Amino acid sequence: MSGMPTAPLLADLERIVGSEHVLADPALRLGYELDWSGRYRGDALAVVRPAGPEQVAEVVRACRAARVPIVPQGGNTGLVGGSVPRAGAVLLSLRRLTTFEPVDVDGGAVVAAAGATLARVHEAADAAGLAYGVDLAARDSATIGGTIATNAGGIHVFRNGMTRDQVLGVEAVLGDGTLVRRLDAPRKDNTGYALAQLLTGSEGTLGIVTAARLRLLPRRDRRATAFVGLGGVAQAIAVARELRRHLPALDAVEAILADALAVAVRHGGDRPLPGDHAAYLLVEAADVRDPEPDLVAALARIPGTDDTVVASDGAARARLWRLREGLPEDLSREGVPHSIDVALPLPRLAGFIDRLAATVEAAAPGSRLFVFGHLLDGNLHVIVIGPDIDDDTADDAVLALALELGGTVSAEHGIGVAKVGWLARDRSAGDLAAMRAIKHAFDPDGILNPGVLLG
Ligand SMILES: Cc1cc2nc3c(=O)[nH]c(=O)nc-3n(C[C@H](O)[C@H](O)[C@H](O)COP(=O)(O)OP(=O)(O)OC[C@H]3O[C@@H](n4cnc5c(N)ncnc54)[C@H](O)[C@@H]3O)c2cc1C
Repeated sequence: MSGMPTAPLLADLERIVGSEHVLADPALRLGYELDWSGRYRGDALAVVRPAGPEQVAEVVRACRAARVPIVPQGGNTGLVGGSVPRAGAVLLSLRRLTTFEPVDVDGGAVVAAAGATLARVHEAADAAGLAYGVDLAARDSATIGGTIATNAGGIHVFRNGMTRDQVLGVEAVLGDGTLVRRLDAPRKDNTGYALAQLLTGSEGTLGIVTAARLRLLPRRDRRATAFVGLGGVAQAIAVARELRRHLPALDAVEAILADALAVAVRHGGDRPLPGDHAAYLLVEAADVRDPEPDLVAALARIPGTDDTVVASDGAARARLWRLREGLPEDLSREGVPHSIDVALPLPRLAGFIDRLAATVEAAAPGSRLFVFGHLLDGNLHVIVIGPDIDDDTADDAVLALALELGGTVSAEHGIGVAKVGWLARDRSAGDLAAMRAIKHAFDPDGILNPGVLLG
């Protein structure tokens, strides 16, 4: 984008954020330029680390004047390459924005800065006797800004909704440097376009989120967890549906297929059950009183769930959760994962799985296939290991299969750079035209995360 000399811009950026927060040295930039999966690597002009929203706005104005693109980054745990800088871009790290306002207990909300981690928001909510509705395995690194930008899902979506359902207001800097802020409006606020909802899921292409007001929920801190061995995905779906019908405290239903569980056990997870099964469910109930009796009773009335273990103490539950939450890392140790995030209508999910292995084998012969995911949302993470980092043949085949069966090419990770070519196959020409018009209005010079989402 820029043909201009970059030295004046770097001097400007140093004036705005302080020279120690402009990292131009390649060794210092490295941790920001490689994504979590190791699949995407970038090359930034500099990493810039502002301390607050005014500095973010000044950085945006300086970059706009110099026509240099900006890639916002939070915890850099995104899985579609959106947080990795394209050559010559400024990598804007939001990690220094970590302030919290005291929890508004009566209003059931908290205002957190964009760089606060998800784990910190959970801690703050918990200390006030409340809970934040979104949780995911990358909680210690993923930031509020990043989870808003990707509209992150996670393990409680069927109960609490996605990130978009938690965001009550945002503060953000648009592509022309305008600071928009609505963090203290009453809960009932019908005053025009919901900018917070529009920015949620925009993957850093419309604005840079600097803070958000988040809805908090009543805390349900008594938990019980079950691990259930089953004959296959169709049975797992049937069991999950029964649990949803008969267990109001149901809080998480995660599926793990046999090959994925074998990897978790190989990398240090405890073998959870005596028997071997084609599919497993990790089920959790959460309530204000001990939910274990209800969980056990609900499972007992479902035929075919005999090979089950139930845990309610913290250490035993953590051992079960490690099998699921450690999977992304365990699989990374087996090779560079092609991580494909799809969702299907629940009635089509078993048919998708039936065709998946043959589809992947035809596209990438000899590769290895692993499947797990958030079952009640119809959301599966398909991991293919074997193809070269740049070889998208297997990814494309899996996405095509999901679309053919009425699914979507991104359930919760977003489009990023990984799926740009797929957006027009999933969304209509009218949708895309509206999205481009919004992009132009929010970011007239196209400096925010070019190449991501809309290509
Ligand atoms: C082990 C593991 C488990 C995961 N589990 C889940 C899961 O269950 N559900 C799920 O949805 N995701 C999951 N993810 C993906 C990832 O954690 C989420 O996408 C998360 O929302 C990214 O947050 P982040 O702060 O790391 O964002 P980053 O990776 O830094 O950025 C992600 C995108 O958001 C943009 N962005 C970041 N911060 C801002 C900001 N302040 N303003 C504007 N744009 C911004 C970036 O430009 C990029 O496009 C997982 C990842 C890992 C590694």
